Amino acid sequence: MQKRCNRNRKRSKRRAIFCPTHNCVLDSVSQKHSLFADRPGQLQERGISRRNALMLVADQSAVMLTGEWLEAFWCAECQETRWYHVRKQERENSSQAASYHLSIAPSELWQQVTGVIHPRGNPSVSEFTRRQSRMLRHNQIKDFNFTI
Ligand SMILES: [Zn+2]
Repeated sequence: MQKRCNRNRKRSKRRAIFCPTHNCVLDSVSQKHSLFADRPGQLQERGISRRNALMLVADQSAVMLTGEWLEAFWCAECQETRWYHVRKQERENSSQAASYHLSIAPSELWQQVTGVIHPRGNPSVSEFTRRQSRMLRHNQIKDFNFTI
């Protein structure tokens, strides 16, 4: 599978997600996989007060983190598919497009998605999707809104 960076430039709803190494537009090759926090510290790291974090985790065993997810991208320069931890940063002025911060997904994040640390850190898409669907069946996610 080979794609050039400029191949999809006419696609209208293109998100501005760039390879951290090459600044080349990345092609998404997976769905977004939501992240969940099951420890108060994970919420505190994201600016939630300790008191609120404790309440949220007590109330919902897994709290969905808004504006963050895991997603696999293909980079034509890297010639590789990688899983990234994506953080969406909304602009203060809503007429501007959101920006996205990418970092290689560390193994701790797989635990926040699947409840299991993957031994190799970067599972195949199919294996990961199977785990994810199993996890979602067992977690009823309540509505939960906070801004980061
Ligand atoms: Zn790249």
